[in-house]
Parts: sequence; C-alpha cells; structure tokens
Amino acid sequence: MTGTAPDPNLEVSVGVDLGGTDTRVVALDLDGTVRRDTTLPTPHDLPPSQAVAVLADVIADSLRSPPGHPGLRVVGVGIGASGPIDPHGVIRNPDTLPAFSGAPLTHLVAEQLGVPCVIDNDAVTAAIGEHRHGAGRGSAALLTVTLGTGIGVGLLLAGAPVRAADGSHPEAGHLTIGEPAPACYCGLLHCWEQAASRTALERLTSGQTTDIAARAQAGDTSSQDLFRRYGALVGELAGRLRPKRQRSPGTRRGGGTGTVGARYVKACVTGWWLRRPAVP
Ligand SMILES: [Zn+2]
Repeated sequence: MTGTAPDPNLEVSVGVDLGGTDTRVVALDLDGTVRRDTTLPTPHDLPPSQAVAVLADVIADSLRSPPGHPGLRVVGVGIGASGPIDPHGVIRNPDTLPAFSGAPLTHLVAEQLGVPCVIDNDAVTAAIGEHRHGAGRGSAALLTVTLGTGIGVGLLLAGAPVRAADGSHPEAGHLTIGEPAPACYCGLLHCWEQAASRTALERLTSGQTTDIAARAQAGDTSSQDLFRRYGALVGELAGRLRPKRQRSPGTRRGGGTGTVGARYVKACVTGWWLRRPAVP
C-alpha cells in the first residue's frame, strides 16, 4: 500500500498592513508564530496593475526559504488597508493609497498567488485581531483607534464590525476637534487625524519623535509636555466615541509609534476619562 508523502512545506497565512506610508507583510504559521516579517514603502506613483504586481511579488519573495530550511506554503491572504473599502472589497482611497484605489486588489492577488484573499479597512482588521487574540478578547463592544498616516477607527459589537449605511467603516478620523490643525485632504478643517495621527506627532516633533521621546524618558519636562499634549488629543476624541462610562482603554503599541507610545499613553487615558458622555 502506498501512502501520500506528507507535505514538507509549512502552511502559513499572510497578513498585509497596507498603509499610506509603509506596507508590512507578515506570514504566520497556523499556531500563530511569525515566520516572515517584511516592511517596504507603499508605492504611490504606479498604475494599479503594477502596484498590485509589486505587492504580490513581495508576498511571494517573503515566502522563499533559505536552502536547507522548510518551505512555506501560503493558504490565504488577509489585507488591512487604509481608508474606505467598498462592499465589493475595492479600496476607495485616492488620497493616501492612490496606486491601489479602484483596483480589484483581492481578485488580482488571489489570481497571482492562487489562494483566497480578503480585505477590510485596517482599523476594522485591527479590531477583529484584538477581539480574537488581544486586549478585547471576548468583549461585547470593542473600539479600536489606530494612529498612522491618518487615524482609523474600528467598532465591533458582539464581534461583528459596525458599518455605515454604504457598508464602509466609520470614518471617525475626520470628526472635528476643537484644536488648531492643518486643513485636511477631505476638505474639512480641524479633523482629528490632522491633529493626532502619527503624522501629526511627527510634525509636532519636527521629525525627531524618537529623540524627543528619549529626552522625555530621561526627564526633560518640555519633551514630556509635548507628549502629554499629544496624548490628550488622542484621548479626547476617543473618549467621545464611547456611549457610556467603560473601563479604561487597553493599549497595544506597534507600527511606527511603537517605540514612543509609552510617552503619551497616560495622557491619552486621562483624556479618555475627561470626556463626558453625551447620554449618561
Ligand atoms: Zn478630514
């Protein structure tokens, strides 16, 4: 009797964080262990077909193994992308993802790699991840705020994303805040993400975020004040998004703000509590 030889390749799923600045590609085995982790600048000046081909190539390259090591076999790809995603899984974000906006991204990636590919807004995918495996595990209601090129907000009720009437995620980064902020690409003034995104923090620190965070940690009061003001901006509007008093937000630091997040989390939580709910 002859049996089928076991597949020597390790099965992995691939997660893609498609941001306005960088794109991160992570391959995890089915136990959740990270096997590959690659970051590249997000292409902006390519036509959609080329941008998708670049992304598929990066995924394929990240799965190659050195000689003598077991190969990786991708079984599926999940993409979290900045900005609105329409009900058909098409990115509608010409402002920060122009090279991918309007393209049938999941269809093209699935075709090139030969595996299923799904997509959602990056804040929604972050919320789903935290609900399944992180700070919000098992919670009935979960609000996630992501600080990147802009601000993303994902809201889950009973584990399911809350969406607008057109199926998109809540664009809460464009709620306005009572603080000076540069004019937003959306056409509004005082958008929260213009005042409190990672981009805004980099502007506040003139691109010296890591150095100023180190100074704050060493006790420099003006550097500490800068992070305190920034954290309050993050927490103030996040606090307005909760319907009633709830326990303090959990925090997960990652991406570009990971090394400095500790400098503003306390002010963020304080801002969260200072906001009074509109309906007690
Ligand atoms: Zn805006």
